[in-house]
Amino acid sequence: METSPGQGAGPTATVTNVQRFSLHDGGGIRTVVFLKGCPFRCPWCCNPENLSPEPEVSLRERLCIRCSPRPGGAPCATAPEDCPTGAKELLGRARAVDDLVAEVARDRAFFEESGGGVTVSGGECLLRQDFLCAFLEACRAAGIPTAVETTLALPLADPARLVAACDVLLVDFKIADRARSLAVTGIDPDVRDANLRAVLALGARVVARMPVIPGFTDDEACVAANAERIAELGVGRVDVLPFHQLGEGKYDSLGRAYDLRGVPQLSDADVAGVVARCEAAGLRAVARGE
Ligand code: SF4
Ligand code: SF4
Repeated sequence: METSPGQGAGPTATVTNVQRFSLHDGGGIRTVVFLKGCPFRCPWCCNPENLSPEPEVSLRERLCIRCSPRPGGAPCATAPEDCPTGAKELLGRARAVDDLVAEVARDRAFFEESGGGVTVSGGECLLRQDFLCAFLEACRAAGIPTAVETTLALPLADPARLVAACDVLLVDFKIADRARSLAVTGIDPDVRDANLRAVLALGARVVARMPVIPGFTDDEACVAANAERIAELGVGRVDVLPFHQLGEGKYDSLGRAYDLRGVPQLSDADVAGVVARCEAAGLRAVARGE
């Protein structure tokens, strides 16, 4: 468990961002808390800043005014907090449960008005189940509805505790073929499905999410296999998430390689085809923008 003296009692986690007024992550107006750290490596990941569990520094070249020496274009020696333009930024800092709940609670009026709440995302927030459950429980105690966005593909420490604290689980269905999923992303769909059965048996409300990624999850066989698996598990709704390139600049800022550079967005017809295939499996399917 991480500790952070002076930031409140209880577990802490490294948080990259608290994003207000999100519309696609659990119903109504959401405040999304991004926990840092993911054991998986989806080539299309749009949150590369949340892969490493450690705080890291990003550099957005377009904001840099070269106010400090950068010999050969190397990063300057200025600390991120002293960068005058925000070009250099420290991503991730330890946050305690009570500190984070107080921040999220600022949006309570929007939650009440819209039927929204807080969504914990990442990264893979199941990496920090102690913090996750404590945070969800504290939000609930403060009257804030809760959602968790996850692969659900890690062992669950205490499924009953998670289900009791979470109003809705948003669970990803990506590469359906197990061998290919393990090889490309490291995600084991069988682990996810076993966890899903367990949480559904405990009364969890689950929404499936299907990112549609050209060359990885957009082929007919993958879409059909995912749709049928979702229906078979007894999950009634799937959100179809079309591929986008919003994460591209973040890879540059972090100096990480990005393999999907230049891959075009899906057409409306492509997305409609995926929605129709899901509906044919008996699901309520909704196409989401980001
Ligand atoms: S302090 Fe910021 S703006 Fe100045 S050189 Fe460094 S990164 Fe660029
Ligand atoms: S599981 Fe999510 S956060 Fe982790 S690499 Fe895949 S898309 Fe990124």
